[in-house]
Amino acid sequence: MEMEFESILLPGIDAKRPLVIAGPCSAESEEQVMETGRQLAAQGIKIFRAGIWKPRTKPGGFEGVGVIGLPWLQKLKAETGMYTAVEVATKAHVDAALAFGVDILWIGARTTANPFAMQELADALQGHDVPVLIKNPVNPDVELWIGGIERIYRAGIKKLGVIHRGFSSADKTIYRNVPNWHIAIELRRRYPNLPIVCDPSHIGGRRDLIKPLCQQAMDLGFDGLIVESHRNPDEAWSDAKQQLTPEALKQVLSELVVRDTVKTTEDLVSLRQQIDEIDDKILEILAKRMRLSGEVAQYKKENNMPVLQAGRYDEILTNRSEQGARMGMSAEFVKEVFEAIHAESVRKQIEIINK
Ligand code: PEP
Ligand code: MN
Repeated sequence: MEMEFESILLPGIDAKRPLVIAGPCSAESEEQVMETGRQLAAQGIKIFRAGIWKPRTKPGGFEGVGVIGLPWLQKLKAETGMYTAVEVATKAHVDAALAFGVDILWIGARTTANPFAMQELADALQGHDVPVLIKNPVNPDVELWIGGIERIYRAGIKKLGVIHRGFSSADKTIYRNVPNWHIAIELRRRYPNLPIVCDPSHIGGRRDLIKPLCQQAMDLGFDGLIVESHRNPDEAWSDAKQQLTPEALKQVLSELVVRDTVKTTEDLVSLRQQIDEIDDKILEILAKRMRLSGEVAQYKKENNMPVLQAGRYDEILTNRSEQGARMGMSAEFVKEVFEAIHAESVRKQIEIINK
């Protein structure tokens, strides 16, 4: 579906990258909101985030303070002039947040994954003119993410952006949620005008990962950052390990290198031409490999052999990734490339064998 987005920038917010949203994972008390907010405002932060309703994996944990927290945000806004942002997951959340003048709404990862919930939010948002940021669904599915965006867009919300917060994974990694950057990059390819805000806090899950993740988001051309910041992170009622003090956040932001030059010199044109030529060669070689694999399929058919020879497959993956690593590439990357090549090869062989 074609979508034309309007800017999410509110009056007084600089268009220069990065757009920064910061604040605690959860609003805990009026005092905590005010003190954290004041410190952030003093660091130049203009948009304050705080979870009022918290989606928890198990019942019984801290599920957010609820509507009593909304006047705290109003008070912070009146005192500091900061805009406020909260997560909404139901119609009741939307109604309450808007009634208390919340400026930006975001939709959490668990909610984006649920089309019923997204439709309920879309219906609740109908007729309102509020910027909405849609987090990626917990599962790495770009179509589900786009489906959520379309639902909200169809409700007439044009001030839309997305938040990349990483994805659940069964694999153990250093991240709380694996970034799968290519999914956000695919979204950028499809909707170049849709702003992407990176959430290094929920990707990293650890304080020390916030800075490198912010830098990576900037290097990939993302528009903004939403970072969890708490006056006393270790005492936070939720996500204590990943929050930064406002001062530490200021430090991270001041060290970010934001490269925004867009110029195309002859050197760059020439380098890109060389890359285009190499890509042509890669495609020619791949096509040749597929032709050979087709001949192998013919042989297997004549000799009544199954398509998949597990030993051969293992040998290809192991040898190639070792060879690739010796050539300065990551073994994981080379393995993925050959898994994809092998999958296409098997698909063709099955086609040929059954002809
Ligand atoms: C949050 O932003 O505090 C939050 C609950 O995030 P997510 O929906 O990304 O898990
Ligand atoms: Mn959180």
